[in-house]
Amino acid sequence: MRVIRNIKTLQTTLAKLRAKGKSIGFVPTMGYFHEGHLSLMRQAKKQHDICVVSVYVNPKQFGPKEDLSRYPRDFKRDSSLMVKENVDICFFASDNDIYPNGYLTYIDVNKISDVLCGAYRPNHFQGVATIVAKLLNMVGPSTMYLGAKDAQQVVVLKRMVVDLNFPVKVVVGATIREADGLALSSRNVFLSPLERAQAVVISKALFAAKESIAKGERKAKNVIAIMQRMISKASLAKIQYIACVDAQQLTPLTTLQGDVLLALAVYFGKTRLIDNVVVKINGSKKIKN
Ligand code: AMP
Repeated sequence: MRVIRNIKTLQTTLAKLRAKGKSIGFVPTMGYFHEGHLSLMRQAKKQHDICVVSVYVNPKQFGPKEDLSRYPRDFKRDSSLMVKENVDICFFASDNDIYPNGYLTYIDVNKISDVLCGAYRPNHFQGVATIVAKLLNMVGPSTMYLGAKDAQQVVVLKRMVVDLNFPVKVVVGATIREADGLALSSRNVFLSPLERAQAVVISKALFAAKESIAKGERKAKNVIAIMQRMISKASLAKIQYIACVDAQQLTPLTTLQGDVLLALAVYFGKTRLIDNVVVKINGSKKIKN
């Protein structure tokens, strides 16, 4: 695996590979890998000649009171995991290179960035859209791999790719979970043993809500109430939001129909966890999540 730390080198290296007819699969990450990240790398490697992974904790997507400085980092461990997955190129970027002095350009994907997580994390999706647009310009992949775990991020980035005519296909990998259902997240390391034990309630609530829809429930408020009731029983859980929205538009639903996204954010101590499931209504089978 080649580690490249410089944008120019990355661009010239990848331009040469593209000129030779090599296809590039790209996985943008903030590092501190778990199986969720690795599953995306595996897909990229399987479907492309060259797998490129970026490791960059993007300061622009963290709010002033968020966990940028304590976000977990371990590049040595990440490197050996990437080598095991046969990643070809790792772009390990530095803040100075990505946002040099005088940086002024940002991308706003309107409306869908302001709801769900965006309502509580102003500018978060502006930061995400901006870094991913820059990385797409640097890497020039034919496919970008994203995880379903970050459902709103997927919707925002798919919109940006269409609106700004990036010549890239977006592939969404299923959410990878612990055996008990907790969605893998780099932030899970912050959970105390008791918080970790209770955090299982998040996925349990989502699966129970999904089950209620499978059994015929069509009122969003009843589905939300099921999740609220279950999560409130965990003494350490603080619900930020629980939502039932259209999976493409992210608009709230009253009566469930079409592709429904059940999404939530819950704090355990200082650790904010998000998770979601998508349920397809109208007789067709449910979307894998
Ligand atoms: P991050 O390093 O948290 O920015 O995540 C990098 C990529 O991995 C994003 O596309 C995430 O959606 C994806 N990802 C994070 N957690 C999971 C998971 N549990 N299952 C699948 N993909 C994930």
